[in-house]
Order: sequence, then structure tokens, then C-alpha cells
Amino acid sequence: MLDPKFAYWHGIPREKIPWYPTVIEEKCIGCKLCFVTCGRNVFNFDLEKNKPVVENPYHCMVGCTTCATICPSSAIVFPEKKVIEQVEREYKVLRIVRKKAAEKKTKLDLERARREALELLSRAKRKIHYEIAGHIAERNLLPKIYEFIQEKPCDIVDIKIETASLKGCWKEKAPSFMSFKLVSTEYEDVSSCARGIEKILEENGLILASKE
Ligand code: SF4
Ligand code: SF4
Repeated sequence: MLDPKFAYWHGIPREKIPWYPTVIEEKCIGCKLCFVTCGRNVFNFDLEKNKPVVENPYHCMVGCTTCATICPSSAIVFPEKKVIEQVEREYKVLRIVRKKAAEKKTKLDLERARREALELLSRAKRKIHYEIAGHIAERNLLPKIYEFIQEKPCDIVDIKIETASLKGCWKEKAPSFMSFKLVSTEYEDVSSCARGIEKILEENGLILASKE
């Protein structure tokens, strides 16, 4: 029975195209190479006779001759190429193919554009972890950063501040340690926001201990 996925060749009913292998039994040595190789189950194999059987001839891909090419005893033959040329002329295959080719090209271009966009996204840095030290409280760092990110597609999360004492960091100007993560809120690269944050750190004399 003809598998529906092989039922047409460029819109032409497959059974109208006489392209399939024929096994010359006298030449066949029963190696089973054709049976195992064909990915379209054109062949079955008769173990009693030790010969392949062309069970689904119209599953054969039009124009394919792989099994004949690999047969070690040249026991498989195909119709002449003009059979296909005649079908191409009769059914105006090239006209159908032109339309399909344009559709395929558009699909391939779209797939490539999608792959490139995904590649760009995968390279984009969407999170940066900072560790800084210095007079963080005294310089009002958090309000300054907050003001900067207000209109930006990013946020600061996981903020941790370590300081010996509140009085100490204001009155005695003891340095504090702070870590936070700069993240994108719109699935974008945060590099440009990072540059702004780092400028604020620099302007306020804070030490960037690590950034990753
Ligand atoms: S590949 Fe050739 S020799 Fe081997 S089983 Fe098929 S027809 Fe026979
Ligand atoms: S020509 Fe190709 S598709 Fe057809 S039977 Fe041989 S291997 Fe299978």
C-alpha cells in the first residue's frame, strides 16, 4: 500500500511515474545491501529465496538510483532517464518547481534570520554581578543608581550591603561592601546600562572589586 507521504512527486500522483528498481535475480548474490540501505522501504527481503523483493515500487524517490549504484553485482536496474524527462515535460514540472523553489528560499531565509537573531540573543549579556567597596552610604549610591535606571530596560536585584555599623559608615566614614546584580527587564543586552552604572561608581570614588 502506498504511504501517503510518498503519494505525490511535485503534485503528480506517484503511480503515474514509472520509476522504481527492478532486481535481476540471476545476478543477485543476496547480500541485502539494497534492503538495508533504502530509507523508503521499497524493498522487502525473501529469506527463502535469499533475494530482495520490490514490495513498494512507488515509494522509490524519483531520480534516485542509490541501490543500483551500491549493488555489488549490478543486479538492480532502473528505467532510462528519458522516462523522467517525459514526465517533467508532460506535467510542466519546472513551472511547479519554480514556485516551490521561491517558497523554499523564503523559508530558508527566514530560518537563517531566526538563527542569527537567536545567536545574537545568546551572545547578549543579560545579567552582570557586581561587587563594590567604598563609602557607599555616604555617597548615596542607591538613589543615584535608582535615578539612572528609572527609564532604562534594566533593574538592580539581589542587593547585599555589608557594613560594620550605621554610625560607622556615616560618621567615621568606614568603607562598606556591596554586591548586586544588574539584570535586563526586557530580555536585552545590559551592556549599555552597565556602562552608566560603572560611570556612577567611578564618579563617586567607589572601587569595583569584581564584575562577572
Ligand atoms: S544489493 Fe544487489 S546483490 Fe545485494 S541483495 Fe540487493 S540486489 Fe542482491
Ligand atoms: S533508488 Fe533510492 S529510493 Fe529507490 S529503492 Fe533504491 S535506494 Fe530506495
